[in-house]
Amino acid sequence: MLSVPELKSLLATPQKIVITTHHKPDGDAMGSSLGLYAYLIQKGHHVTVITPTDYPYFLHWLPNNSEVIIYTEQQEKSAQLVADAAMIFCLDFNSLSRINELGELVRASSALKLMIDHHLDPEDFDDYRHWSINACAAAQLVYDFIVNELEDGEFMNKDIATCLYTGIMTDSGSFRFPSANSTVYRIGADLIDLGAEHWKIHQLVYDNATENRLRFLGHCLSNKLEILPEYHTAIITVTSEELKSFNIQTGDTEGIVNYALSVNGIKLAAFIIERTDKVKLSLRSTGDFPANEICKKYFNGGGHRNAAGGFSDENLADTVTAFKALLPDYKTQLIQ
Ligand code: 5GP
Ligand code: MN
Repeated sequence: MLSVPELKSLLATPQKIVITTHHKPDGDAMGSSLGLYAYLIQKGHHVTVITPTDYPYFLHWLPNNSEVIIYTEQQEKSAQLVADAAMIFCLDFNSLSRINELGELVRASSALKLMIDHHLDPEDFDDYRHWSINACAAAQLVYDFIVNELEDGEFMNKDIATCLYTGIMTDSGSFRFPSANSTVYRIGADLIDLGAEHWKIHQLVYDNATENRLRFLGHCLSNKLEILPEYHTAIITVTSEELKSFNIQTGDTEGIVNYALSVNGIKLAAFIIERTDKVKLSLRSTGDFPANEICKKYFNGGGHRNAAGGFSDENLADTVTAFKALLPDYKTQLIQ
């Protein structure tokens, strides 16, 4: 493992650097990546952010978004950048399977791999790790990396602050999850002092819905929400025909699962959606209920205790049946 002094001395001269983040990047994935990008370019490095797939339109306003390369749209260029890189930062994920085909390119690259992440069970592919499951967001760890590890607080600027604030805000449920402790609020305050316009960031992310998204949300809540009172569980299922008929784009389904969790008494919420290639599950839970355990054990996934995801190769109906069938095993935890 690379030590911090070794890392500092490497970063003292311009390097070719790639920053990558997980499949279907969310606000923390993009905020942490573009925040680190804004820092590294100031230091004179040649930096490219490569995402494995596209990401929601409500993140396209982030500073330097136009510089991002999407692997699925520019495969050759991405492969070349990964092969030529001296350093690859892996943000907001810790297993190379989370970045699809890009994962094997990263593994094969001779670049030093640096992981900045807050998920459980990191895979052993990195040369440097700034990792803590206690962090509410990878963006919090990027802040800590720049300010405390590299002691480069003087390089913080408005662009970095805007990106990192976005990551922290989205992953902490707008500073309301238990992970948003007083340190997180202090970091938030510092980012505001550095120029992050918190009210504007919130508006750009959360009040930026298309009409389609809102009507689709209405459809999910009116017609697709199923409550299982005996398990304190709520499920919303969506077919690919419904996605097509509402012209749903990447990002439009984000956060819908939280409405299911907001029902009085519900401890576990599932959003199960039929994508073109597979069925995707998003789980949310309250308190100690381990949503990530269900995703890891039964649905090829993982995540955090209260927010986890995975997928199934079965069809939608069979996936829903399988999900319901495992609830009796968790009944005691669900009804306590
Ligand atoms: P979402 O439900 O918003 O897609 O994901 C919630 C959280 O679950 C993410 O922050 C991520 O930690 C985790 N997650 C989602 N999908 C997957 C997956 O396919 N594999 C793993 N390991 N984690 C996932
Ligand atoms: Mn995250």
